[in-house]
Parts: sequence; structure tokens; C-alpha cells
Amino acid sequence: MFTAILIISGHISYAQNQRCGTHTPSQIVYDNTLYKLSSSITIPVIFHVLYKNNGTGNVPLSQLSKQIDSLNGGYLGSMFTFYLAGVSWTKNDSWYFLDGNEATITNALSTDPKHVLNIYIGNADPYLGWVVYFPWEANEDNKLHDVFVDYRSLPGGSFSGYDEGNTATHEVGHYLGLYHTFQGGLYTTRR
Ligand SMILES: [Zn+2]
Repeated sequence: MFTAILIISGHISYAQNQRCGTHTPSQIVYDNTLYKLSSSITIPVIFHVLYKNNGTGNVPLSQLSKQIDSLNGGYLGSMFTFYLAGVSWTKNDSWYFLDGNEATITNALSTDPKHVLNIYIGNADPYLGWVVYFPWEANEDNKLHDVFVDYRSLPGGSFSGYDEGNTATHEVGHYLGLYHTFQGGLYTTRR
């Protein structure tokens, strides 16, 4: 459903990111899959919050709602809008650390990845966030076709300079097929 490379204008403000953990696709793959959407898409989002037993990383619903607002702001003028379809909160000292636990976490928590954007919120060290797959690299129902984001980068989070929700906006761009907005130059970061 979301397997598409996007041509959108006036979109993602995330030029400061140098801590994205998403791998770099080959330029050949990128060029060969260029595609323009003809109709707009509304994407349901489910957040999965992974937090520690002591409460660290336990993000409230209000902050997740603001993240949805931030996403919609970032994609204003594009073909995409997002709405909050659900939240899960999981207390787990291991899963709180997203890096290296992606398969375990998504296997347990993923909800209808073919139709829902699952965003996992936890400690993303040493990154701010990442996606495992660009859309052309896995089937739509692959549980790893989703987004990982550090809880401190949500709107109002404790990462100074990265506290407006733009990390999620950047990584959702990868989820949708956008290249790193700070590399290449095929997609600009104007707003
Ligand atoms: Zn990136």
C-alpha cells in the first residue's frame, strides 16, 4: 500500500540529522523505483512505547498526540496525512533499548504492518532513529517494515535541538521511500 517513492515539495525539516541509523540504498535502486503518487493517503499510526521498569521512557499519550501533529506539519502539502490509531505501552528493561531488539519487539507487538505504520518508541542509542527497510526492500506485511525513534526526540523531549518530533518525521520519510534528506540533494528540505 505504501510502496512508493515520493515526490513531495516543501516537506521535511530535518537537515540537522547526522544520527540517523537507516542504511543507504544504492543510487541505482533509488532511481529505478522513482514513482509519483496520484492520490492522497491517510495513514493510521500505532505507537509502541518501550520503557524501563523504573519508568524511564514512559511517554504519555499527550506527547504521542503532539508527535502526530508534528508529522502532519512535516508532511503538510504532501499526499500524506497521519492519525493516531492506537498505542501500546510495554515495560521491559531489555526492549527499552531498541537497537538489536527490533526483531523480538516487532514480532511481539507489530499490528497489521501492511496497513498500519507501527512506530516503536524507546532508547535508540547510538542513533536518534532508523528504519530497517526501505519500502522496496521488504513485503508490506513484514513486521520490520516500520519505524524506530528515540523517546527523547518526541515533541517536548529532553534531546535539546531534537525535541520537536522531526526525528519521527525524518524516519517516516524513509519508511515511505525518501532518501536521507541531508544527503544527495534530490529532495530538498525546504519548508
Ligand atoms: Zn535518515
